Amino acid sequence: MSEALRYPSTRGASPAATLSEAIAAGIAPDGGLYVPEYLPKLSPEHFDPNGTLADTATTLLAPFFAGDTLESELPAICAEALTFHTPLRELPQHPKTLVLELFHGPTAAFKDVGARFLAACMRRLRKNTTQPLTILVATSGDTGAAVGAAFHRQPGIDVVILYPDGRVSPRQAHQLGCFGDNVRALRVEGRFDDCQRMVKAALNDTALQRQLPLSSANSISLGRLLPQMSYYAHASLAWWRQHHEPLNLIVPTGNLGNALAALWVRSMGLPIGEIRLACNANATLPDFFAGHDYTPRHAVATLANAMDVGAPSNFERLLWTIPNAAELRSQLQAHSVDDRTICSTIALHAHEHGEVFCPHTATAMHLLDQMRAAGDTLPWAVVATAHPAKFESVVEPLIGQPVEVPMALTAMLQRPASAEPMAAEDGALRQWLLNRATQGVAVFS
Ligand SMILES: *Cc1c(COP(=O)(O)O)cnc(C)c1O
Repeated sequence: MSEALRYPSTRGASPAATLSEAIAAGIAPDGGLYVPEYLPKLSPEHFDPNGTLADTATTLLAPFFAGDTLESELPAICAEALTFHTPLRELPQHPKTLVLELFHGPTAAFKDVGARFLAACMRRLRKNTTQPLTILVATSGDTGAAVGAAFHRQPGIDVVILYPDGRVSPRQAHQLGCFGDNVRALRVEGRFDDCQRMVKAALNDTALQRQLPLSSANSISLGRLLPQMSYYAHASLAWWRQHHEPLNLIVPTGNLGNALAALWVRSMGLPIGEIRLACNANATLPDFFAGHDYTPRHAVATLANAMDVGAPSNFERLLWTIPNAAELRSQLQAHSVDDRTICSTIALHAHEHGEVFCPHTATAMHLLDQMRAAGDTLPWAVVATAHPAKFESVVEPLIGQPVEVPMALTAMLQRPASAEPMAAEDGALRQWLLNRATQGVAVFS
């Protein structure tokens, strides 16, 4: 077998981990993010032209898993996690304008890919452990549902979701609270930043951890990032085989997880051309790519709430991938799209082409509209990160009719939902967790 890849931290102050260790830990002990020591190279000939998404993922991720304890499990993990399609759809009457639909999973957003893969890995890594584990997730909407769905009824694991009360869409809130069993939702009287801070405080609380082992499932986990490369590989290979040209991508971006996956696939040698990042009014990345210093800041609330990020958590990995700022700026671009433009883009495409996009996808579609107006004729895939039905309160008034709800979402909306209120204080979460610890957690089996 080939030599196993090592996974150092972006901050270089903790020892390199194996892939399994990196996946189990989430964040590195020095506060950095785990990265592969190098990105392996692959070419289109390595892939089965008739393979499924899971087959593509298995081939793509094999060099990352080589020599790891999970190596022999990789095909099963991919088959278990990637059970839905991620179609690359060319818009009728708009040749070379494509939509890469990533919302056909159980919770109707691309987060299902990473969450299900992480759960499939964790289940195997914890096979010989009897100690229950509580996974804390701070969510601005989509991550919590994807993680809840992926770990629902997994023995020995409890999931606690924290979301900012009133700042997620009504359907998102329902999804977050509908699981029950081992998945609990807390609606926090504060902002997403508060939820994130409370989770971090709990994870760093060694006294609490002794009574109640805690972990997180946020977007910095390699177990979520690596599988997100699969759909970019799958789509770009399909386009390459048909058209013998690279596929260009516009990716709606918040924490940079989805976009970084695209960059890594391109760096591995697969046929992806240009990558553009579409942001909402949170302009940390657009400002950086326009030549300013990188300046993290507080997030502002927008209609594309899953991208309300002022300090993109994967920025460290981006700098690890391309350390030179000038080089980085020559390889990627980022643009900001405000709420008014998000609304006009949704309305325009619904009325003129009968295509309905979610607010996140609309940021990317707007960038493409601008590029087409300026004469661009390249093949571009707009990455559709969520189904519009998840954001009905934004989308339906704009298009003047109901959005058809996918079956998986309908099933969730029909279940009862509940969430417990919580003050935006670290101590409140601590007390709640301790109460549960004494009542006995992870009782579900
Ligand atoms: C999470 C999310 C994003 C942003 O993805 P990042 O990986 O954080 O950049 C965009 N759109 C939707 C619908 C999301 O749920």
